[in-house]
Amino acid sequence: MDSTIWKDFINVLNNPLTTKDYINYYKIITSWIQSHRNNFKSETLSENRLNLLSKLNPDVYVVETPGFLLDNEKKRFEKNEPDNFDNFAMILGNRLWDMVTNRGKECPNCEGDEMRYLITKEENCSEIILECNSCGWTETLNGEKWRRGIIETLPANRKDLQRFNIVLN
Ligand SMILES: [Zn+2]
Repeated sequence: MDSTIWKDFINVLNNPLTTKDYINYYKIITSWIQSHRNNFKSETLSENRLNLLSKLNPDVYVVETPGFLLDNEKKRFEKNEPDNFDNFAMILGNRLWDMVTNRGKECPNCEGDEMRYLITKEENCSEIILECNSCGWTETLNGEKWRRGIIETLPANRKDLQRFNIVLN
């Protein structure tokens, strides 16, 4: 990992807004990624959803309880310097994904993680589906395996879930 860039990243975490709330933290991380996007390979950015994540409006998408504490973030990053940019992109992608996705039931395929609610982006109709970020398992709300292949999706935000009468635990 390039040490100048790594130091620069750690340095943005000194901004007191990073521990203020998740929305501010999300904004700081995504704007850092935007200003350093040339350091990442373009396929790395898309594989880790960093293009999509950088475009989402945090006021609309950031969830109330992403499942980690902001106070520990700087320490956590400092202790785990990534080996390279690919690894770093994966860590950033997972962190941001945690902040914009609502958790559903546990993944039946790997039992490693709770699946996240996504909404399909289709011309005339959209559908809520559940996807596991660990193994990629995807299913419909009825619990049937998703068989329509790869389709463009967005995280389902609170309004989307309300529209489909989905109540979070
Ligand atoms: Zn899984």
